[in-house]
Amino acid sequence: MRALAGLAALLLVACAAAEAPAQPEAPATVAPVAEASPPVPAPTELSLRCAGAFTQGGIALCRTLPNAQVSLDGMAVGSADADGWIVLGFTREHGAQTQISAAANGATVTERYDVTPREFDVQRINGLPQQTVTPDDPAVLARIQREGAIKQAAFRSEANIEGFLDGFIRPVEGGTVTGRWGNQRILNGTPSTPHFGYDIAVPEGTPIRAPAAGVVTLAESDMHYEGGLVFIDHGQGLITMYLHMSRVDVHVGDTLEQGQVIGAVGARGRATGPHLCWRMKLRNTQQLDPSVAIEGLQRARAELLGE
Ligand SMILES: [Zn+2]
Repeated sequence: MRALAGLAALLLVACAAAEAPAQPEAPATVAPVAEASPPVPAPTELSLRCAGAFTQGGIALCRTLPNAQVSLDGMAVGSADADGWIVLGFTREHGAQTQISAAANGATVTERYDVTPREFDVQRINGLPQQTVTPDDPAVLARIQREGAIKQAAFRSEANIEGFLDGFIRPVEGGTVTGRWGNQRILNGTPSTPHFGYDIAVPEGTPIRAPAAGVVTLAESDMHYEGGLVFIDHGQGLITMYLHMSRVDVHVGDTLEQGQVIGAVGARGRATGPHLCWRMKLRNTQQLDPSVAIEGLQRARAELLGE
């Protein structure tokens, strides 16, 4: 039982609309920002430029020599794509500075950036279905394990596309933010893992749009924790997730354009009311804050593509 409970804790922890104080949300726009623009050619010699949201849970784009080997804080991340792009993320616990290196042909270039720390609140949520907080029904535990394997397989995707260059848009219009990313949470009185989602309360049935181009790597209509659940890979394993959906309109393998409807908001799984729990994970290792990524990816696009 202990092992299964531990496993359950490792699986996607779904989220819930909260009774916490709500902040009004800026009106959303669904107008695509990724207009055709003259491509900026990739460097022909080893160099490194990065831009984005250098903060805990943030994201950056870097441009370097195509196929250069990139490392973050001394850890190998992978190689830049054929256009010299690579996506990097910063965890919730990241320290005050980061060091990014690119290496090719025996040479290495390194850039250092400050990473802004954040403060995370404690959030209490009650009224959740108890089997989504402390599951102990053997049938439920077996289902959680089965669904965890489906999610893990979908997280391993690293699509060879550049949707991350689109500049992200909000997946739903309007609404109220009911759960911020990174909050420490106490669910039905039980301390839980940090909330790696951004919760936007909107009416049931509100259309959800792809924030950028991508490929669907998971499309399930009835998951224990998440209800309707969709994953989109925007390239290099930058995966956004959409939880608690009432309707799923896409299938695994579908290629999406920015703004395309993928389904509708619901209240299914571990939820107390209709909302979108929007999540982002990079290369199956780093949980990132999608609300920070919107600004970060647009800034990266502006700085690195001169827009
Ligand atoms: Zn959530």
